[in-house]
Amino acid sequence: MHSLAFYTFGKTASVSVSPILHTPLEFLTGVGPQRAAALREEFGLSTVKDLLQHYPFRYVDRSDTEEIGALNASLDYIQIRGILGPLKEEGVGPARRVRSTLRDATGAVELIWFKGVKWVAQNLVPGAEYLAYGKPGEYKGHLNMPHPELERLTPGAVIQKYLQPVYSSTEKLSRKGLNSRGIEKLIETALSLSRKEIPETLSEEICGRFKFLSKTDAVYLIHRPRNFEDVQQAQRRLKFEELFYIQLELLIKKELRAKEVAGFRFESVAETFMTFYEKHLPFELTEAQKRVLKEIRRDLRSGTQMNRLLQGDVGSGKTIVAALSALIAIDNGYQVSIMAPTEILASQHFESFSVMLGQMPVSVELLTGSTKTARRRAIDKASQSGALNILIGTHALLEEKVQFKNLGLAIIDEQHRFGVAQRAKLWKKNTLPPHVLVMTATPIPRTLAMTLYGDLDVSVIDELPPGRKPVKTTHVTDSARLRIFGFMKEQIKQGRQVYVVYPLIEESATLDLKDLMDGYESIVRDFPQPEYQISIVHGRMKPADKEWEMNRFVKGQTQIMVATTVIEVGVNVPNASVMVIESAQRFGLSQLHQLRGRVGRGADQSHCILVSDVKLSREARLRLKTMCETNDGFKIAETDLQLRGPGDLMGTQQSGILDLKMANLATDTIILQYARNVVLDLLEEDPTLQLPKNAPIAAHTRELIKDKPNWSRIS
Ligand code: ADP
Ligand code: MG
Repeated sequence: MHSLAFYTFGKTASVSVSPILHTPLEFLTGVGPQRAAALREEFGLSTVKDLLQHYPFRYVDRSDTEEIGALNASLDYIQIRGILGPLKEEGVGPARRVRSTLRDATGAVELIWFKGVKWVAQNLVPGAEYLAYGKPGEYKGHLNMPHPELERLTPGAVIQKYLQPVYSSTEKLSRKGLNSRGIEKLIETALSLSRKEIPETLSEEICGRFKFLSKTDAVYLIHRPRNFEDVQQAQRRLKFEELFYIQLELLIKKELRAKEVAGFRFESVAETFMTFYEKHLPFELTEAQKRVLKEIRRDLRSGTQMNRLLQGDVGSGKTIVAALSALIAIDNGYQVSIMAPTEILASQHFESFSVMLGQMPVSVELLTGSTKTARRRAIDKASQSGALNILIGTHALLEEKVQFKNLGLAIIDEQHRFGVAQRAKLWKKNTLPPHVLVMTATPIPRTLAMTLYGDLDVSVIDELPPGRKPVKTTHVTDSARLRIFGFMKEQIKQGRQVYVVYPLIEESATLDLKDLMDGYESIVRDFPQPEYQISIVHGRMKPADKEWEMNRFVKGQTQIMVATTVIEVGVNVPNASVMVIESAQRFGLSQLHQLRGRVGRGADQSHCILVSDVKLSREARLRLKTMCETNDGFKIAETDLQLRGPGDLMGTQQSGILDLKMANLATDTIILQYARNVVLDLLEEDPTLQLPKNAPIAAHTRELIKDKPNWSRIS
């Protein structure tokens, strides 16, 4: 990917850069070298400008206090005001704590601290009046408020009505006097110095159209709002701006690539493709598959490198689309690589490609970590000579030794398991970059897709092959065990196969393994040989053993597969019609959906049984309820995003990209959509931001490019 630096946005005439905004924090009144270092280490804040972007995460109406006599433990965070009672230190070591009380005319409540005991004991003044902010709790039927935020009031103080911003701080910063209040004071200083110098970053046209506050007002009001209306207006403007610039970056990159990254031109759809399409296609393609294939063909003959994300729910039939795309590349004299995240999946792809293309003059090979050296050498040779058409594999494909004569298409299955860096690694194998088709079975909510893959084109298979019956999902508790076993037997009698899945989560791997083995044993007891054959697969087994067990199940030699989540992704056993998920409350929504996707692949009615404890957290209950209510992967992904937030949803790999200061991808869908559309219109009218009316945008874009890290997030 070319750097953006050479690309000139707008007029090159320099804009005046505010000296105050770029001042290192160390020189701001009240900071100094030590605090500056701490601010940099804890939050990455180096300049006054950075500090101004440390936005409050909450506001407290300081004039609004509750009567202490009316408190109860079900209240959320509230504020109370009263006289502090005597401080009592108790316990030693980790059990050390301080207790006190806060009393007003209506009653008293206990305050308690388990951390920072020394500081509390030394700094609080019994008998003085305090404002306390915290969440009432209950301990053994006794009301208290653990770790309240306290502020001492001067005698007779009248609390002015104003919204106090609350900033995130850390223990280290607090020790240097920079708790929320300390940070608030610094920001006040910074604001008073720089208020007139904050440059506008959006055009008048955009601000006018959406009735946005100016940048200056937005920054000022986000820190010093008069009321919640101010907060809302400021947030609206700042969220839009943040999302706008992410989209601008992605869409400029996409356009640059379209201009600069030439791709192989696959002009012809010839012999192999046509023969296969007309004679050997195992089924008629769905409309969605046909549409997606058209989109891919258009890319492949455009002369520009394809970068396409193919989204399709589990079982929607992505494999055949990949196979047909591969044939186009082969017809044009190029090789194809297909990369999957696990050996089992790579093997399955290999098998289905071998079967599908069995009657075609196309050579397919499998390369994984366990491929023997001699075999590997033969594959290398065929790959380098061009004799090999399709190479399927795991990460092993990324190793330097694999050389292609002319790799023309790289297909990546289950993208988000590979990092973006690995995606880029494939490029280098070759002089011209191959076309890239990324397939994902995890439906990604639109907002995330637009942000993570905003520089890719997206195709969606939004239709399942005909004749599929939606999986029936039920939620039961452990007490239903006998009924579940009975149901499994009934299904097996009809020739079906069954998965029983246990969670395996790293920290408690040993306990989980015990759970799995206990479960396995009770199943073995209830499903005796030789009538029943049982497979077991878990993470502690050797890959070869796993493979062997898995294969017995795939071939129908065993009726029950007891497993941990290693079977989660992609495995295809159409005859399996029951999925029992144990301790279902411990799985995330997208995991549950992936697991359920293992059944419902044949024409028979399939079932998913979620087994959980009786006692469930609110969120767990919502997850299981969502699963019972819908089979729609996109709906499930949306709910997952609401519950977990984008960072957790996508794993840590991409969380940097999702580390937004103001906007929230789970809730700001509409703003994001507007931002993207505005950017699309903008770039259509003024692709290099030369128009005078767009000068503020051009200037800010140049700034962002200078502060590189943000702009090189995705390459
Ligand atoms: P996924 O999108 O999860 O990778 P697969 O490509 O494995 O889905 O397809 C799931 C199953 O559906 C396979 O058994 C496949 O043969 C079958 N299938 C795919 N497309 C169609 C279709 N158009 N008509 C009938 N069956 C299909
Ligand atoms: Mg698949």
